[in-house]
Amino acid sequence: MSIQLHDTLQGKKVPFEPMTEGEVTMYLCGPTVYNYAHIGNARPAVVFDLLARVLRRRYKLTFARNITDVDDKIIAASQESGEPIGDITARYSKVYNDDMGALGVLPPDIEPHATQHIDVMIAMIQKLIDEGHAYEAEGHVLFDVASHAKYGELSKRDLREMIAGSRVEVAPYKKAAQDFVLWKPSTQDIPGWDSPWGRGRPGWHIECSAMAEKHLGDTIDIHAGGQDLVFPHHENECAQSSCAHGGAPFARYWLHNGFLSIDETKMSKSLGNVLLVHELIETIPGEVIRLALLSAHYRQPLDWSAETIASARRMLDRLYGAIRGIDVSAEARAAAEVPDGLIAALEDDINTPKAMAEFFSLARALNKSNDPAEMEAMAAQMYAAGELVGLLGSDPEAWFAGDADGDMPSDEIEALIAQRNEARAARDFQAADAIRDQLASAGVTIEDGAGGTTWRRNG
Ligand code: AMP
Ligand code: ZN
Repeated sequence: MSIQLHDTLQGKKVPFEPMTEGEVTMYLCGPTVYNYAHIGNARPAVVFDLLARVLRRRYKLTFARNITDVDDKIIAASQESGEPIGDITARYSKVYNDDMGALGVLPPDIEPHATQHIDVMIAMIQKLIDEGHAYEAEGHVLFDVASHAKYGELSKRDLREMIAGSRVEVAPYKKAAQDFVLWKPSTQDIPGWDSPWGRGRPGWHIECSAMAEKHLGDTIDIHAGGQDLVFPHHENECAQSSCAHGGAPFARYWLHNGFLSIDETKMSKSLGNVLLVHELIETIPGEVIRLALLSAHYRQPLDWSAETIASARRMLDRLYGAIRGIDVSAEARAAAEVPDGLIAALEDDINTPKAMAEFFSLARALNKSNDPAEMEAMAAQMYAAGELVGLLGSDPEAWFAGDADGDMPSDEIEALIAQRNEARAARDFQAADAIRDQLASAGVTIEDGAGGTTWRRNG
C-alpha cells in the first residue's frame, strides 16, 4: 500500500506516488533568521522531519529546507540594533539548527541560503518577464496575476472576488492590487544586488521558487509548510514556478500543518505569550517537547499548555520505564523491526496519535512479558520505533536520573502542580502557596509562564 498524504491542492488524502520511481524530493519553507524560533515555528520542523524519516524508509529522499537570510524584517532588525545583517543571520541560523536539533530534528539534505541564489532568482524573474507573466515598473518587477489562469487554485480563492474585495491602497506602479513583488529597489544603505532592473533585492516568494528549482528541479514531489503559508506565499510560489516552467506543476503534493496556540490563545508578541524553543529547552527535555508537538495530528490545531507538556512527559516516562533495566544486545538491535502497526499509522498521513497508541501497546506487551528473550526482542523493537520517530534517544537510567533515590518522583511533582493549578483556579491561594512550599522543600522550583507551569529540580 502506498503512503497516504493529505494534499491541500486536491483537498483530500490521496495515495503518494513519487514522480521518479524510488526517489522523492521535498521542500520545506525554512526560517527567516533574525530572531529565535517560537514553539509554533517548531511544529512544521518537527512534523516534516518525521515525514522525512518515514519517507526515507522507502525512498531515496532529497529534502531541502531553506534559510531566508534577506528580508525586510532582517533589515529592520539590523537597523534597530546596528549589528551587521550577516552577523544576525549567521547567529540565528545556527541557533535555529541547534534548537531544532535539541528537538530531534535531523539536518535536511540541503539547506540553501537565499543570498547565495540571487543569480537564480534574477534568471527566473527575467524568464517570467520574457514569457509575459511579469512586468517592470519603477525599479520593481511584479508578477502579473491576471496572466495566470490558475492563480488562486491552491488557496481556493477566486481572483475576481479578491480584486472586488480588495480595499488595500494599491501602489501606483501596480497593474492590479494582487500583483506581487518579485524584485524591489534597494537604497544604498540596505542590501542590494545589481540586476537588469537596477540595484535591488528579491521578494520573499521568489526566493523559495528559485531555491527549489536549483536544488530539486522544475517539479518537486512534496512542498510543506504551516497553514498560514498557503496564501499568499505558496499560491505565489506556485504561480511563479509553474509560469517559469512552461506550465509544469510546481509541487505534486502540498502539505500544511495546523496552528499551535498557547492556553487556547493565539501566540502573539502583543499578548506577551510567545514561547521560544531556545528557552523551553532549558527546563524541558527536547524529547518531551518533540512528543508534545507530535501529540495531535499535524493538520489539527494543537494547544500548548502545562498539561500538554506534563502528558508528554508521562508518556515518555512510560516508554522509558518499559525498557529500563533490559539489556539489548547489538544483534537484537540489528534484528529488530519497527512494528507494522506503527509504520502503517505514520504512513497514513502521519497519524501520530495512532502511532503513539501502537508504541504504547508494544510497551504494555513488554511490561507483561517475563520471558527474557522475548523481553529483549521487544525492547529492541521499542528502540527501533524510537529511532524512527526521534524518541528514546537517552539511556533509560539517565532519563530517570532526576528521580534519584530520595527525590520526589516526577509524577508526584506533576500531581502536586495539577492540584496547585486547581487550587489557584478556585482562588484558594493559601493552598496553592502551601503546595509551592512543599515542592520547594523537596528541592523543586516551579515557574508559572505563559504556557503554564514548568518545574525543575534545584542543583
Ligand atoms: P515564519 O517565520 O512566520 O515564516 O514561520 C515559520 C514556519 O512556522 C512557517 O511554516 C509557519 O507556517 C510556521 N508557524 C508560524 N507560527 C505557527 C504556529 N503558531 N503554529 C504552527 N506553525 C506556525
Ligand atoms: Zn517558501
